[in-house]
Amino acid sequence: MFSRAAAGLMIVAYIGQVWASCAYGTILHPRAEGGKVEVGKFGYIGTTGPANWVALDAANALCANGTNQSPINMLSGRFSAIPAAGLSLDIPDMTEGTSFENLGTTVEVVAKGGQMSFGGVNYTLQQFHFHLPSEHLNNGASTAMEMHMVLEGGAGEVGVIGVFIDINDKSEAVPSVPPASPRATPSITSSSTPEAVPSDKAAAKPRSASREMRARRQTTQRQIENNSSLPALKVQGTFFHVNAPTTAAMTPSALLENVFGSVGEIATPGTVTKTRPLVMSELVNTLLSGSFQTYEGSLTSPPCSEGVRWFVSNQVLSIQPETFTKARSVIGFNARFPQNELGTENLLSQRLLAGR
Ligand SMILES: [Zn+2]
Repeated sequence: MFSRAAAGLMIVAYIGQVWASCAYGTILHPRAEGGKVEVGKFGYIGTTGPANWVALDAANALCANGTNQSPINMLSGRFSAIPAAGLSLDIPDMTEGTSFENLGTTVEVVAKGGQMSFGGVNYTLQQFHFHLPSEHLNNGASTAMEMHMVLEGGAGEVGVIGVFIDINDKSEAVPSVPPASPRATPSITSSSTPEAVPSDKAAAKPRSASREMRARRQTTQRQIENNSSLPALKVQGTFFHVNAPTTAAMTPSALLENVFGSVGEIATPGTVTKTRPLVMSELVNTLLSGSFQTYEGSLTSPPCSEGVRWFVSNQVLSIQPETFTKARSVIGFNARFPQNELGTENLLSQRLLAGR
């Protein structure tokens, strides 16, 4: 486990970079002081885009040679599933609203507290931001957007809750009150349950799949110990396999309607506004009514640091078509392409580019 002193050295390593990465507000990239909104220097298209992030700064090497990079295609067998009961999540409502910033590379809501505990690590929510379209693929398919809730542990660990967002094209009413208390999680079974029937080919052979997962986890651990800029996570706890569709039905989100209700006020990069009051319990209840798909990957933006613990929810939130249009007019396009399978060569490595 890294000490605070070691974590301090990491701040020095990254503070000079002044890029508004996905880790903004964490130890990897502290928030600018005095309410100033930092605008990102990287982009998503052309020479500043993901294929060329490595050339923008020497600190971005992992973007092209990291072997545990995010986002990934979330296929059964490539992650471990944990029921909501396997972690604790509590985010206070923001009754006074909070800052909503345009960082150029994303729009970001600054959190006012919020705790998550998993695997012996206590995380604090720093911010949540959005990608359009989704960065992770949901069993091979992108969704309209993806929300990243960025959390930081006491020793500098970084965890991110990923939530798929899609467009509600059925004009379902947006709930005006938070949904009822969390439901049971019938789709989760222990990995030791013999009748578990994973849905895809890779997981159709549970024994070899589990050996593969074990080997991959060991490789991942070695990579982190050798290369990571983040403290190695020693995650404890029991993992489960999901024997149901990767994600659940869509839940209309009053929270997201509220957040994007203000997005037009930050159309220009570097601007900030204040959100309306945000009822975070609605989101927490939805997330805790499902399960999380966890794996160890990286930041999806420069410097692509590895050792990031991902928790991709199986609950999909939905927004109204006109809300999506409003968000798209400000965000544009900001998704990194799906990365190679965890533990294998980076798609941008010289050997692959040279065809060996
Ligand atoms: Zn992100």
